Amino acid sequence: MTVHNPNFVLMVEGLTVSFDGFKAVNDLSFYVEPNECRVIIGPNGAGKTTVLDLICGRTKATSGSVNFKGQELLSMREDQIVHAGVGRKFQTPSVYEDLTVFENLELSYPKGHGVFGALTFRRDDPVKARIKEIAETIFLDDQLDEKAAYLSHGQKQWLEIGMLLIQDPELLMLDEPVAGMSVAERKKTAELLNRIIQDRSVIVIEHDMGFVEDIATRVTVLHQGKTLSEGSMERVQNDPKVVEVYLGH
Ligand code: ADP
Ligand code: MG
Repeated sequence: MTVHNPNFVLMVEGLTVSFDGFKAVNDLSFYVEPNECRVIIGPNGAGKTTVLDLICGRTKATSGSVNFKGQELLSMREDQIVHAGVGRKFQTPSVYEDLTVFENLELSYPKGHGVFGALTFRRDDPVKARIKEIAETIFLDDQLDEKAAYLSHGQKQWLEIGMLLIQDPELLMLDEPVAGMSVAERKKTAELLNRIIQDRSVIVIEHDMGFVEDIATRVTVLHQGKTLSEGSMERVQNDPKVVEVYLGH
């Protein structure tokens, strides 16, 4: 039986996936607390993206356990995992370019799933208010009526984060959210993440160490599908093993 340990939103234990005998994730364990921003760093090919794919059900694990608030995610489908409260953002933004910021957020509002359902349901006041609130959080309250196509790359990334936030996930997973962003946009994204962990936990994959320092509660360094080091930013930065395989390069 899967039990919910209230100290952790997510308990990953012995997670393993084998692709034709190659273990991209190999007996990995880590634990995420409520209101934590966990950052996963590590060299290319370390298995970072695969870890998120396993948690969100996109890739089937070979063995292990992913306990999200007492639910075993490894035996659930991708849509069930989303419904349970796990949101996942992929590396490239996937917003609807021809729709406005408002419409993109409206589409993602839990009540209005599916294109037709979303565009025909009544824009009642609570929905509007929620969309405005999210737009403010993601720095796009002045762009509500603008088509997503006209947003900067960074603004599109924020919009996609907003489209996940509007579903109110308890765990949000972001794969390299600041790649391609300007320095100013990175600073604002750090501010955004620090704000959203007030209400939820976040797992972020990131390479920009300045950004990691601004957001991380704890850092997990992944290497060859395993944890090489874990702890505060300061601790992992000063770990000789981490310097050797990652930071030194
Ligand atoms: P990272 O995100 O840390 O750069 P990935 O998780 O994308 O690394 O990939 C880890 C390793 O697993 C890589 O060697 C990659 O080629 C391999 N891999 C990822 N997904 C698959 C797959 N579906 N089939 C086979 N190999 C894969
Ligand atoms: Mg990756």
